[in-house]
Amino acid sequence: MKDHVNIPVFIPHLGCPNLCVFCNQRYISGCEGFDPSGVRNLIDTALSTVRKGQSAQIAFFGGSFTGIDRELMTSLLDTAQSFVSEGRADSIRLSTRPDYISEEILTVLSHYSVKTIELGIQSMSDRVLRCSKRGHTAEDSERAAALIKNFGFEFVSQLMIGLPSSGPEDEIMSAEKCCEMGADAARIYPTVVFRDSELCDMTIRGEYEPLTLDQAVERTRNVYGVFCKKGVPCIRIGLCSSDGVSSEEKYFAGPNHPAIREMVESSMFFDSVSKSLTDKYGLGPFTGKELTVTVPEKCMSKAVGHKRENAGRLRSEFGFGKVRFLESPSLSGYDVRAEICSEDL
Ligand code: SF4
Repeated sequence: MKDHVNIPVFIPHLGCPNLCVFCNQRYISGCEGFDPSGVRNLIDTALSTVRKGQSAQIAFFGGSFTGIDRELMTSLLDTAQSFVSEGRADSIRLSTRPDYISEEILTVLSHYSVKTIELGIQSMSDRVLRCSKRGHTAEDSERAAALIKNFGFEFVSQLMIGLPSSGPEDEIMSAEKCCEMGADAARIYPTVVFRDSELCDMTIRGEYEPLTLDQAVERTRNVYGVFCKKGVPCIRIGLCSSDGVSSEEKYFAGPNHPAIREMVESSMFFDSVSKSLTDKYGLGPFTGKELTVTVPEKCMSKAVGHKRENAGRLRSEFGFGKVRFLESPSLSGYDVRAEICSEDL
């Protein structure tokens, strides 16, 4: 399969009449203004870095692409399409809100090489959507996803963890619904509080408590686990550094860590080892014994954990004296083999 690269074009807050409590789109997109006349150059420059054999998708991220002024939207699509027609890009990708999807909009998009539509679903709980002032319902998301699938586009669901009034069950339910709605891929974003957002004011007033990093990892892992079980790839967990959130000036509070994906995957491995252990050996005690954990190839660092956390937890929570990790090509995903040294048994 060809290596895939996105050529991101950020469209900040354009045409969006909403003000979701968590949003300061200028900060999320990392640009204060937007100059449409610079888009051609931006794409051209980015495409010149694409290597032979890579597939490039021009991706309109940021605001709600299908909600911006129609003339601007089609002129941006025309620009992107010209690169596809020249053979320099393979297709077009965009992100938008569920209530900005209609048959008419999808018909317009279908005249271009749009392949993938990302929907900012955020939650499938109407209560959570209301408390986040999202301005659309779960039903809007279901309807939009069905239309996107019917038109034959790829559908990527974006969910948030830890929104106001959201609990772990709401998040698991949202992921299950997205799978039922036919998500081809997913993005999971633990909620980060930006300065100049309503969520920031709510946090200062004590009406919202951001998740700790540990809580975010645990709840994101639950949601990630749902997608993994259904075979839906998670193409991103957490905001990336280019989202421009790391500076003090923009970030206020919440679980914003560059290694959050690795932490979530490590947590998946810890659960898998715990299950493998208890299925095979019961609940212990394992005090002082030696444990060998075999994990899939190239997964050693995730299995051992960020700062060797999993190795430490296996010693402290199960009492093992020694824990060692091996890799095996016969395992895949988060499957592991946990074996206690036979001399210890
Ligand atoms: S829909 Fe919400 S998150 Fe998206 S740009 Fe508008 S206010 Fe921000």
